[in-house]
Amino acid sequence: MQELTHYIGGEHVKGTSGRFADIFNPATGEVQAKVPLASSDEMSQAVKIASKAQIAWGSVNPQRRARVMMKFVDLLNRDMEKLAEALSREHGKTIPDAKGDVQRGLEVVEYCIGAPQLLKGEYTDSAGPGIDMYSMRQALGVTAGITPFNFPAMIPMWMFAPAIACGNAFILKPSERDPSVPLMLAELIEEAGLPKGILQVVNGDKEAVDAILDNHVIQSIGFVGSTPIAEYIYGRGCSNGKRVQCFGGAKNHMIIMPDADMDQAADALVGAGYGAAGERCMAISVAVPVGDETADRLIEKLIPRIEKLKVGPYTAGDDIDYGPVVTAAAKQNILNLVESGLAQGAELVVDGRNFNLQGYEDGFFVGAHLFDRVTPDMDIYKKEIFGPVLSTVRAASYEEAIGLAMDHEFGNGTAIFTRDGDAARDFAHRINIGMVGINVPIPVPLAYHTFGGWKKSVFGDLNQHGPDAFKFYTRTKTITSRWPSGIKEGGEFNFKAMD
Ligand code: NAD
Repeated sequence: MQELTHYIGGEHVKGTSGRFADIFNPATGEVQAKVPLASSDEMSQAVKIASKAQIAWGSVNPQRRARVMMKFVDLLNRDMEKLAEALSREHGKTIPDAKGDVQRGLEVVEYCIGAPQLLKGEYTDSAGPGIDMYSMRQALGVTAGITPFNFPAMIPMWMFAPAIACGNAFILKPSERDPSVPLMLAELIEEAGLPKGILQVVNGDKEAVDAILDNHVIQSIGFVGSTPIAEYIYGRGCSNGKRVQCFGGAKNHMIIMPDADMDQAADALVGAGYGAAGERCMAISVAVPVGDETADRLIEKLIPRIEKLKVGPYTAGDDIDYGPVVTAAAKQNILNLVESGLAQGAELVVDGRNFNLQGYEDGFFVGAHLFDRVTPDMDIYKKEIFGPVLSTVRAASYEEAIGLAMDHEFGNGTAIFTRDGDAARDFAHRINIGMVGINVPIPVPLAYHTFGGWKKSVFGDLNQHGPDAFKFYTRTKTITSRWPSGIKEGGEFNFKAMD
């Protein structure tokens, strides 16, 4: 059985804690490798290396740091197939999806090539007699990130690319479910010229995370994952005096107005609800048609599209719509929630419970489900299912529809499908959710904008990537200087002479 390593000080290092987690092939259910779970001593060792390496890296000029990013982009493109295959093997998503995962991370690396411009400071000449004032953005030192299983390439790159471009060292604690791609990324960026010790990957579980939270050298923590863990990390990280940003779970609503193009809306819902087996934080999990007639037309269009979805292993080709979910426990949780929906009175109009894939009976595949007549008191509405299950909540009016999305505890993404510009504008203005699509079901901002939800989907005040990342990974220092020659030459400005 393959035993994965940590990546510490530029070397693949075996785990010494004696603790391991199984890595499954989600398509077959077999354990394909094991990953070491770091002890707090192993984490401390990585922090010491990072701290030493960062001193020199923080003084490297931003243009040279940007060149490492440029080369890293080339290497990501060179190894795209290899990365996508490794990603699909552990995560289960299709190869086109896996390539998208790498590509969206790569775009953040491209943005970071702009580090020399993004890190430029401000200068005020002659702020007083002989006085000049300037501000600079400086690296924090050692930074860390804790990432989820569902985007094992993109989310680590969201964090480590700007952190490193700003001159920090970064310790990544990736998900223990699919750590191979993060390890490959660390090797690749060193091939691009990054000094050893600046990006390290320490695999682990709660023990490794707690070691990050309590280490006094680590200056900042980025987290993406479920809301209960986000809340825990934010609380403990902040009380330890760190800069912390945590991104949590989601329940994204899509409102379908009576005037929407119903074919376009149905296609969008199928892609956004079932793509990647619903394991996206920006997946649409609630459809809110406005009016019974809209709901009936929508359901009629959705059923045949959902029944046509091809579910299978990534090895079956690029026409597979989605693969297995990540673990047997995730599959069981989804099926339990489906049962709760039925018990609480929702109508299951597409029933995926008996889905079976010949030859892959032990894989973690879940058939596509569509619920109608879901109400806000049901668990399938309140909880994040993170699987191929779409719930339809019928709203009598636009006001009721927007109210549903606004009252939900999560606020990651949302969308409205309509031809009515007035309704679309009102929706975009009033909604209390961070990312909004107008006839766009998954409104994920590009790398040069910022990504982040509102409400219980986020803890902290700066978003991922875009200009916010350069603020999160630096602190501002403002210098005021005074030189005697300036005072002699200019003297005090004579305002009287202006009268
Ligand atoms: P998770 O919360 O189980 O795990 C995320 C990370 O936290 C992993 O590295 C894991 O090892 C660590 N962790 C787990 N339990 C912990 C504990 N008790 N103490 C300390 N650390 C712990 O999340 P997941 O299942 O890997 O990912 C799915 C979740 O991530 C979903 O809720 C999804 O919505 C969310 N997500 C959010 C965004 C976003 O941008 N808002 C993006 C992607 C995923």
